[in-house]
Amino acid sequence: MVQTEQLQDELRSALKEVFGYSQFRGNQEAIIRNLMSGKNTFVIMPTGAGKSLCYQLPAIVMPGTAIVISPLIALMKNQVDQLNAFGVNAQFLNSTLTKSELNRVKKETLNGQVKLLYVAPESLTKDDNIAFLKDAKISFVAVDEAHCISEWGHDFRPEYRRIKTIVDQIGNFPIIALTATATPKVQADIQKNLHMEEADIFKSSFNRTNLHYEVRPKIDAQKQLIRFIKNHKGKSGIVYCLSRKKVEEIAELLTVNDIKALPYHAGLDADVRIKNQDAFLNEDVDVVVATIAFGMGIDKPDVRFVVHYDTPKSLEGYYQETGRAGRDGLEGFCLMFYSPEDITKLEKFNKDKSVTERENAKLLLSEMAAYAESSVCRRRQLLHYFGEVYNDNLCKEGGGCDNCNLPKEKSFEAKEWLLLLLQTVHETGQRFGADHLINILRGTTEQYVLSYGHEKLPVFKKGEALTEQEWKSIIRQAMLYGYLDKDLENLLSFKISEKGYAFMERPTPVTFTKDHDYTGAETELIADDSENAAHGGAYDETLYEMLRNLRRKVARQKNLPPYVIFQEPSLEEMATTYPTTIQELAQVNGVGLSKAQKFGKPFVDMIANYVAENDITTAADVVVKSTVNKSKTKIFIIQQIDRKVDLEEIAEAKNLSLAEVIEEIEHICYSGTKLNLDYYIDQMLEEDAQEAIYDYFLHAETDNIKVALQALDDEFTEEELRLMRIKFLSELAM
Ligand code: ADP
Ligand code: MG
Ligand code: ZN
Repeated sequence: MVQTEQLQDELRSALKEVFGYSQFRGNQEAIIRNLMSGKNTFVIMPTGAGKSLCYQLPAIVMPGTAIVISPLIALMKNQVDQLNAFGVNAQFLNSTLTKSELNRVKKETLNGQVKLLYVAPESLTKDDNIAFLKDAKISFVAVDEAHCISEWGHDFRPEYRRIKTIVDQIGNFPIIALTATATPKVQADIQKNLHMEEADIFKSSFNRTNLHYEVRPKIDAQKQLIRFIKNHKGKSGIVYCLSRKKVEEIAELLTVNDIKALPYHAGLDADVRIKNQDAFLNEDVDVVVATIAFGMGIDKPDVRFVVHYDTPKSLEGYYQETGRAGRDGLEGFCLMFYSPEDITKLEKFNKDKSVTERENAKLLLSEMAAYAESSVCRRRQLLHYFGEVYNDNLCKEGGGCDNCNLPKEKSFEAKEWLLLLLQTVHETGQRFGADHLINILRGTTEQYVLSYGHEKLPVFKKGEALTEQEWKSIIRQAMLYGYLDKDLENLLSFKISEKGYAFMERPTPVTFTKDHDYTGAETELIADDSENAAHGGAYDETLYEMLRNLRRKVARQKNLPPYVIFQEPSLEEMATTYPTTIQELAQVNGVGLSKAQKFGKPFVDMIANYVAENDITTAADVVVKSTVNKSKTKIFIIQQIDRKVDLEEIAEAKNLSLAEVIEEIEHICYSGTKLNLDYYIDQMLEEDAQEAIYDYFLHAETDNIKVALQALDDEFTEEELRLMRIKFLSELAM
């Protein structure tokens, strides 16, 4: 007894002295005591709950060195830095060390100075490392991110499978395994592999009360993303994308839109990765755009949002990644963009895998899709996935979710359907999966149905009023609300739970919800035209009409054709992004600063009034500036024209056609740079020809070139007309 109290005091004072915390969180103390009494210990806690302390603290108070096995070099560095900052001697052993650094680490370990030695699994398997560790005094072995052992986990590392064998060669010490993975399958795999079936398990609830979950259709996602981040201005956040290419693109997109962001993915050099990670940790940048290579074990407590720009591959991974938000217990917004197309694309990526891997990946994806499409409380779904029973008020009391705020129309009375479903499960002996049950319910005379004689059941065809999708959704909800359980022996079939039988005996009203409809959501996984980003989406038609009228009025006053003032696509964009200052207006495609200054005042005034009257949150901050960098060519063209170089020559120098050069020049002009092409036009067209065309544009209804060609009886070439149009616009509109 005296001993326990002593230990308790010792642990508490170390907690306070070293880490500055006055209390343990959750099970931390019990876990530490269990480990220190020499027992194998298995810790399952959600991300951000404080797993590291469970091995860091005992390592500090116990004699000798603790070996910490950890999958990522970035993660080790982060923890070692933090521990060093607390004055703890922690070191790492991995492939980035030089020979002399390695020798120093070994020496300090052998003479007992090092309290925690972080080792990558690759380094652990090296013979000379094993030899040296045999000579060291080891207190215990910690296996962090232990789900890496399991191929059912989301980032399986084959080397993790050898840990136990190697540890046995080094000596006999207790093992503490830690993971944020809560699926029973992964847990069983970890225990089996580390030969710690007898370990004491410490599992805490996975509910992250402070996180808010939301799924949005992936429509105009770039603009949505920029708007979202600008609404969280100055806050730290992570944006996850599935591919390296996408990471680079989105990081650049954010940067040109004045958001401080850096990319992070495994394709970057190690030093760039470390630099970018540090920039994020030190808050030199607000946002890291990353593949899932980023974030594991990285402890930035005040990450305020995590965005999944692409639909993730599994709920498991999704939950880990969202878990990086709000570790400090304050707000954390988890936003995911979902598109069924993304799921299809991801399925295609799996085609080269082995059959079992493919089947497994497919299952994970279908669970992901079900989560996104369902309009059942997100938290309920997530916790159910992790095998937790859910208390109805959890979501509303905490961070909430989009589905909990859904309008009433989404829900429907499901009593009859649920009863029908349970009867079908019952009458078929609780041996069948969703597809078969749905075939019976909808009356599909498919061969399996016939071979079991299930077309003769009274329930056959009773559910034909609902679609296959609707039935799938009902089956999922029957599970989520505990009427059906998965059969643990045969994961594809269902068993009726006690609650289910109680319901069958005395059916009571049940409210289920209709799935979301994501048709129309786009995918950007492969093809992506960021250039068009600003043109997508519907514009505000009322405002558009008002702007057109205004344009007509201004044109009349100035005695110019309306299109000289602003072109129609520009008006559409104004009616989408609501620019209310000349600066913002200048960002609109086809406007440019000089035009904005010359004509813009009445337009921005009108928009400002409109925005105020209609209580619109101005979206002017989400003008998506394109990342497509053609500026080099543009600058070249401007310089050459200044030097009066012939357009053909410019074309040749840049390997473009004349038409392409003219197109570039048009872009340059429309975005507000004045160009004087007289030197070229004068040698191409007689003066009276020039006048005729000029006069035409001055009185024409439209500046469309096809129309102009016809109206001028095909007397001129398209190039000539386009160049004259540029001259005309440059002189009158800027
Ligand atoms: P996990 O590995 O479980 O994802 P971490 O070990 O990185 O989580 O810890 C998450 C955060 O919780 C860190 O900021 C850590 O300093 C903090 N933390 C851990 N234990 C305590 C405690 N007892 N009191 C206060 N904060 C704690
Ligand atoms: Mg951790
Ligand atoms: Zn909810």
